[in-house]
Amino acid sequence: MREMDLQNNYRAVREKIDETCRKAGRDPGEVTLIAVSKTKPLSDIESLIKIDVNDFGENRPQELKEKFDLVSTPVRFHQIGHLQTNKVKYIINKAVLIHSVDSMKLAQMIEKEAAKKEIIVNVLVEVNYAGEDSKFGVKPEEAANLVKEIAASFRHIKVKGLMTIAPFVSDPEENRPVFRGMHELLLDIKSQNIDNVDMSILSMGMSNDYLVAIEEGSTMVRVGTAIFGERE
Ligand SMILES: *Cc1c(COP(=O)(O)O)cnc(C)c1O
Repeated sequence: MREMDLQNNYRAVREKIDETCRKAGRDPGEVTLIAVSKTKPLSDIESLIKIDVNDFGENRPQELKEKFDLVSTPVRFHQIGHLQTNKVKYIINKAVLIHSVDSMKLAQMIEKEAAKKEIIVNVLVEVNYAGEDSKFGVKPEEAANLVKEIAASFRHIKVKGLMTIAPFVSDPEENRPVFRGMHELLLDIKSQNIDNVDMSILSMGMSNDYLVAIEEGSTMVRVGTAIFGERE
């Protein structure tokens, strides 16, 4: 896509976010826009860096690593997609936040690699709120337990909140109950004041439904198509 179009798309999305925040009585500074650059060339990332975009989302670990290594200016790369244990090593000291932790087995591998590097890795627990077969993530009623187990077992992992990928729907309003339920779940876990857990991040909302997600309390939206255009 042309550089100017990309930059304009990003600005338009950001403006809609800010306006939705104001209408909902929220501070726009609370909402991070992650530009989901998966499958898109490094040049697209560079175009956005020129207008000071700092947060990018990738779903394939090798692609995140490659872009991290090649980008001209250090930016924040988020691992947003499903992560297999054997791929953790690619992104362990590169992803600013892993959005997709959904098992103790994966957390165990993150702990092992983080301990080797002597770093603390920030993660979100992924919740399959609507219980779709096609999606990764724990059931909502299992989320609190996984958060507790991770916090109690691993010194090199910090749980910062929850993430969900809402169902694909034609009318974003259909996802409002999902987003509302996720917000309630976050608040419920937060109220348990678990040691070494802060529950400050709620990652939800994509191109089709990010404004509804923000109305319902999202603090991180992951937007690809609305910025970069359709993927191949
Ligand atoms: C691809 C992807 C997105 C962005 O999706 P769009 O509909 O293109 O905005 C967000 N989150 C995850 C986990 C993704 O894999």
